[in-house]
Amino acid sequence: MLRDQLARRGARLVLKRGPAAEVLESVIAATSADAVYWNRTYEPFAIRRDAAIKQRLKARGVAVDSFNASLLFEPWELKTQSDTPFKVFTPFYKAALAAPAPRKPLPAPGALNGIAVRGDDLDSWNLRPTAPDWAGGMRAAWTPGEAGADARLTDFLAHNATGYAKGRDIPGQAFTSRLSPHLHFGDIGPHRVWHAAAAAEPNAGTISFMRELIWREFAHHLLYNFPDLPETPLRREFAAFPWQEDSTLVRAWQRGRTGYPIVDAGMRELWTTGWMHNRVRMIAASLLVKHLLQPWQTGAAWFWDTLVDADLANNSASWQWVAGCGTDAAPYFRVFNPVLQGLKFDGDGAYVRRWVPELARLPDEWLHKPWEAPMDVLATAGVKLGARYPWPIVEHKAGRDRALKAFEQLRAA
Ligand code: FAD
Repeated sequence: MLRDQLARRGARLVLKRGPAAEVLESVIAATSADAVYWNRTYEPFAIRRDAAIKQRLKARGVAVDSFNASLLFEPWELKTQSDTPFKVFTPFYKAALAAPAPRKPLPAPGALNGIAVRGDDLDSWNLRPTAPDWAGGMRAAWTPGEAGADARLTDFLAHNATGYAKGRDIPGQAFTSRLSPHLHFGDIGPHRVWHAAAAAEPNAGTISFMRELIWREFAHHLLYNFPDLPETPLRREFAAFPWQEDSTLVRAWQRGRTGYPIVDAGMRELWTTGWMHNRVRMIAASLLVKHLLQPWQTGAAWFWDTLVDADLANNSASWQWVAGCGTDAAPYFRVFNPVLQGLKFDGDGAYVRRWVPELARLPDEWLHKPWEAPMDVLATAGVKLGARYPWPIVEHKAGRDRALKAFEQLRAA
């Protein structure tokens, strides 16, 4: 442990779990450090925290500097021609492509000079849940850390990058990279991912993948320039949207019991693995904010609590995009039909059958709309609606009409 090592070296260090600044002060005192360097993070609270630490250390004569490792572009770097932040993705994307290419990834330092730092054995903290062990599905799905991230990137480039442009919308096939938690936690940097993709054979797949990396940049650009993004709609008029808050509806959505198989599959994938396919995130989020008229912030909060890639910038920007209150071209009145989405993107039912096993024996034709299946088909498949699997929480057309009416109400106000 760092404390024991420093004690052996005659240094005094009282390491407490506490605010970052205090822990940092203890380490500086114990190691007689005269400079502190770190990589920047860009959430509003992190910017405030780091600015305060910088000021405090500088006042004590400690040199400080911070660097960019987690974004391809600093969030203040790309600007519109009128020198304002971008609010729309396509011009941001064009500006990113026109800007000097992101730097090449830097090699890891060989060793930390000075002191050898060792941490606690994490297992000794007993953080893992045991009774109940709700994290088993996450352990099976993820290998946190650099090795896990490297393996994902290598595998993606070798097997899925070429087919990514089309395959990325099919939740039943593992076409996407699943790098999101690794990028969020810094197990891998976007520079490495970007240049590895750029070095691969150029085709629609790699281009489309690199475009998604720019969506990540765009979300961070928005959060930096509009720090109230997590709570406040970018289109301010949406603050008066007539939501109809209802905890029973929210609970059914969270538990994957809305009666819409593609949505329920997604919500259960999320609960089990901590991740949900992007196409299904869009469908599930849309059902919550449009058919069920629940505030997007409620959905964002659940994703924040359950996603292993929970990321303030990506999550907030994506929820605003789905809710139609961001500034990008996803108008509120475009309401996903969860049945058609299911048929289009999970036509063979692989995804729904995996996550909603109680419907697994239904033929493809009825899998995404079991309530329309003939009684004998339901009986043969062992599906009893209203018992093991619910009726739809709201009828699609009724939910859509109600959402559009609420939108009209907002426009008239
Ligand atoms: P790939 O398709 O392999 O894409 C590569 C990388 O590009 C991703 O790892 C991610 O870093 C980035 N990326 C891809 N799509 C987007 C996007 N739409 N916006 C921003 N970056 C993107 N992503 C998160 O990382 N954290 C979140 O908290 C999050 N919340 C979301 C909430 C909603 C309602 C929606 C619709 C999307 C959300 N996303 C979020 C974006 C997207 O769903 C995930 O980044 C993607 O599914 C991660 O899987 P992947 O790594 O296989 O992606």
